[in-house]
Amino acid sequence: MKQHQPLIIGNWKMNPTTAVEAKTIVTSVKSSIKKFAGATIVIAPPALFIREVKKALGSSAIALAGQTMHEAPVGAQTGEVSAGMLTAAGVTYVIIGHSERRTLGESDEQVNKKTVAALKSKLTAVVCIGEKDRDSQGNFFMHIEAQLVAIFKDVPTARFKDIVIAYEPIWAIGTGKTASVEDVLEMQLFIKKTLTKHFAKASAAKVRIIYGGSVNADNATSLYASGGISGFLVGGASLKPADFTKIIAATL
Ligand code: PEP
Repeated sequence: MKQHQPLIIGNWKMNPTTAVEAKTIVTSVKSSIKKFAGATIVIAPPALFIREVKKALGSSAIALAGQTMHEAPVGAQTGEVSAGMLTAAGVTYVIIGHSERRTLGESDEQVNKKTVAALKSKLTAVVCIGEKDRDSQGNFFMHIEAQLVAIFKDVPTARFKDIVIAYEPIWAIGTGKTASVEDVLEMQLFIKKTLTKHFAKASAAKVRIIYGGSVNADNATSLYASGGISGFLVGGASLKPADFTKIIAATL
């Protein structure tokens, strides 16, 4: 019996090109998941399409996520979107620290500031961590611990329930190379152990842990059943409604 309800988040990244295409994808997802009660489903479209996608979702229980946000509430930050703007647009989740943002220079300190700002604006923060490569001595675990500790600075334990840690090994994102069930299980245990080392056990247990990295309709069932995770952050496959639906079904 899992401790948390399954959470499946589709990260569309910089896709598709037009709002009409975005509407087509979301309408298809909406109609095919009608039968799935018991899972929390979230879609993260490009910021420019949030309003259109929200309109297309209508009264559907599918929630929306921002793909990133700036830590400041307003100001001279060309091209950026704030947590308050996302909330005002009806968004309830935000992805923070995705490796594709970290590659552009987003630091652990910024990821922490964004997390704190997201929580202040009543968003659930989906914070990504993950190693670039694995070494046979297991040194990558130290990197994971440092990323984790940085995220939770100044986060009140009462808000741990609004944090989702997305374990996304960089080598598995968009590559077709999925982490093995054993690797995911081991990392999930390490994340839990690390949180328990730094915080009260009851608070640490409130943090949800999901996996992302080349999740597809074929590997989702075993990853969910035996990886110890509460769900998935899905990139490429979330743009294909039939595949996304199968991934959701794998958690139920
Ligand atoms: C992602 O971008 O968060 C991701 C997991 O991508 P993909 O599923 O395509 O590997």
